[in-house]
Amino acid sequence: MCFIDRFGGLFFGVTRMDDGAEVNQESRTIREFVDYPDHKKRSESAEFRANKRRLVVQLDVPCWICGGRQSREVHHIHEWSLWNALDPVKVLNSLHVFDPYGYTHAAGDKPIESPDDIRNLLVLCEVHHRGINTGVHYLTMPIWFPQRAVKDGMAITKAIEHVKEIDNTLKRH
Ligand SMILES: [Zn+2]
Repeated sequence: MCFIDRFGGLFFGVTRMDDGAEVNQESRTIREFVDYPDHKKRSESAEFRANKRRLVVQLDVPCWICGGRQSREVHHIHEWSLWNALDPVKVLNSLHVFDPYGYTHAAGDKPIESPDDIRNLLVLCEVHHRGINTGVHYLTMPIWFPQRAVKDGMAITKAIEHVKEIDNTLKRH
């Protein structure tokens, strides 16, 4: 069993943005309890390395959230450490629905045997992969996913340093 506190603070407040607009801000503490099945110690497989090279170097696929090409990493859509708890048939069914690069459609019902299969991979920049308060490993899906669709010039989350700054400002009032 593993539990993870996503964020230690809690605040609600209204902040004025640079352009004068006010936004309502809310911070929550989320505690995630996860039962990880037994798995090998994580190491980068040859399959993962080859697929990462294909996506990032050969095809130059950008971050799925922001379209950026800075510090790109490759995310497992179905978490590597949970793989032994997953039914490969159900995994494939999900990947037929979430098929960002078309590899699942192209492979049809070819069984998926490894989390490092290219059908289970998603290119993200470091910020949208592991960034505190911005990354898929940090935020809940209702906040992480819409980042892809924000209007130009707007942001719905910011790096945690900014959040801490606001927290301190609110404490002073
Ligand atoms: Zn990004």
